[in-house]
Amino acid sequence: MATAKTLNDLFLDTLKDIYYAEKQILRALPKMARAAQSEDGKEGFLKHRDETQGQIERLEQVFEIIGKPARGKTCEAIQGIIAEANEIIEEFDGSIALDAGLISSAQAVEHYEIARYGTLIAWAKQLGHKQAVTLLQQNLAEEEATDKKLTELALSAANAKGTKAA
Ligand code: FE
Ligand code: FE
Ligand code: FE
Repeated sequence: MATAKTLNDLFLDTLKDIYYAEKQILRALPKMARAAQSEDGKEGFLKHRDETQGQIERLEQVFEIIGKPARGKTCEAIQGIIAEANEIIEEFDGSIALDAGLISSAQAVEHYEIARYGTLIAWAKQLGHKQAVTLLQQNLAEEEATDKKLTELALSAANAKGTKAA
């Protein structure tokens, strides 16, 4: 049945989705850092944990701009992606392929975030929330930079090492 929902409602729903997701990611990153074998991997996950804290604060500013309380809405997609990361941590514990697995999990997280921010930016533009566009673009830029670094990390070390199983 048709309801009176608008793009405004969809924007708010999706903002709540990424807000929830970022909070889950904030909790998952220290665990990924602990699991990572390489120093570069550990450092990268911890650095992105700090960035994620800032991203959550930017999202809270976006809620303020649109005059709504900052509230999350359960995102089953991020729960699933993080559950897969935990599975890799358990199943590849102590193996030389662990870091390659962690990087691939982290990239799945980044790609989910990039998809969400891309959409939110387009809708914020359409809805005329200019300040929100700027804040969301800052988050997107950090996710894209992280994704790129993960690719470099994978190409430089983790995957190559993973092939040398004795
Ligand atoms: Fe993020
Ligand atoms: Fe979601
Ligand atoms: Fe991220």
